[in-house]
Amino acid sequence: MSRIKRILVTGGAGFLGSHLCERLVDEEHDVICLDNFFTSQKTNVQHLLARPNFELIRHDITQPIFLEVDEVYNMACPAAPGHYQYNPIKTMKTSVLGAIHVLGLAKRCRARVLQASTSEVYGDPEVHPQPEDYRGSVNPIGPRACYDEGKRAAETLFADYHRQNQVDVRVVRIFNTYGPRMHPYDGRVVSNFIRQALNGEDITIFGEGSQTRSFCYRDDLVEGIIRMMNNPSGFMGPINLGNPIEFSIRELAELVIEISGAKSQLVKKPLPVDDPKRRRPDIALAKEKLDWEPQVALREGLTETIRWFRSIRMEDYRAPTPHY
Ligand code: NAD
Ligand code: UDP
Repeated sequence: MSRIKRILVTGGAGFLGSHLCERLVDEEHDVICLDNFFTSQKTNVQHLLARPNFELIRHDITQPIFLEVDEVYNMACPAAPGHYQYNPIKTMKTSVLGAIHVLGLAKRCRARVLQASTSEVYGDPEVHPQPEDYRGSVNPIGPRACYDEGKRAAETLFADYHRQNQVDVRVVRIFNTYGPRMHPYDGRVVSNFIRQALNGEDITIFGEGSQTRSFCYRDDLVEGIIRMMNNPSGFMGPINLGNPIEFSIRELAELVIEISGAKSQLVKKPLPVDDPKRRRPDIALAKEKLDWEPQVALREGLTETIRWFRSIRMEDYRAPTPHY
C-alpha cells in the first residue's frame, strides 16, 4: 500500500484537475487544490469540500506560493483555444511564471513535480503520428503561440531545474482529452458539438472538417498522469499521453449526432489560423515505460459525456470569454 502524501494540484478545479483531485482524495492523500477559477467553476470540486483530506485555495499561480508538499501536479493553464487566446499575455505568464513558481516550491520542499504539457508543443506537425523526439513546427508569433510557446518554455524550465538543481520532474504531453466537467462554452470541439447537438443548434465545422484529432477519455488520461508521477524508474519524460485512434472532425460530428439523436445540421465556418491539420500521438513510450494505453473507445466516452451534459444546467456556467 502506498504511503499518504501531501499533494498540490494547481488548476485543480478545472476539467482534468478536478478529476485528478477526486482520484487522489479517494486514495486518501492530503490534497491541496489551487485555482484562480479563470476557466472553471467551484462546482467541479464542491463534492470534495467536506472531505477532511481536501483543501481549496484561491490563488493565481503567476504569484509565488509557499506550501509544504511531497508532490505537485501543475495543471493550471487555460487549455481551450478560445480561453487561452482571450488574454494571451496572461496565458504566457501562467505557463512560464507558473512553472517557475512550482519548480521553486518543489526545489525548496524536495518535492516531485509533474508538468501538464501538451501536443501543441508539436504545433502543426510535419511528422505523423508524433513521437516525443519530434521537435515540432510552431509559429512563434501566431495566435496559438501564447499557449504553444508558453508550454515549450515551461518544458525548458522543467529540464533546466532538473539539470541545474536536481529537481525531480516529470513531463507529460497531453493530447485532446474530453469527458464530463468540460466547460460547455469553452469552444473546444467536443464540448461545442455536444452542446450544439443537445440544444438543437447547427454543428459548426471549421474548414472542411477533414482535419484530424485523436480523442482520449478523461479516465484514461488521469490514469496515465498518475502512473507517470508514481513511476519508480525515475523516467522524467517528456511522454505522450493520448488516444492513438484518429478521427476527422466531420466523423466526430456525425458520431455526436448519432449518439445524441440530434436533428442538427452540419454548417461550415472558417478554419482558425494555424489550426493543426493532423494530430495523433505515438504512444510507444507510454506503453513501454508506464504499461499504459487508453481503454475507453470514443463512442463509449462520448456516451458518458453526453449523459453528463444532459444532467447539467448549461446556463449556470460562467465563461471567461463571450459565449459563441
Ligand atoms: P481547464 O481550463 O478546465 O483547467 C485549467 C484550470 O487552471 C482551470 O481551473 C483554471 O481556472 C486554472 N487556471 C488558469 N490559469 C490559472 C492561474 N493563473 N492560476 C491558477 N489557476 C489557473 O483545462 P483542462 O483541460 O483541465 O487542462 C488542464 C491542464 O492540462 C492545462 O495545463 C492544459 O494545458 C493541459 N492540457 C489539457 C488538454 C486537454 O485536452 N484537456 C490537452 C493538453 C494539455
Ligand atoms: N473545431 C470545429 N468546430 C468547433 C470547434 C472546433 O470544427 O466548433 C475544430 C478546430 O478547428 C480543430 C478541432 O476541431 O481543428 C479541435 O479543436 P479544439 O478547439 O477542440 O482543440 P485543438 O486541438 O485545436 O487545440
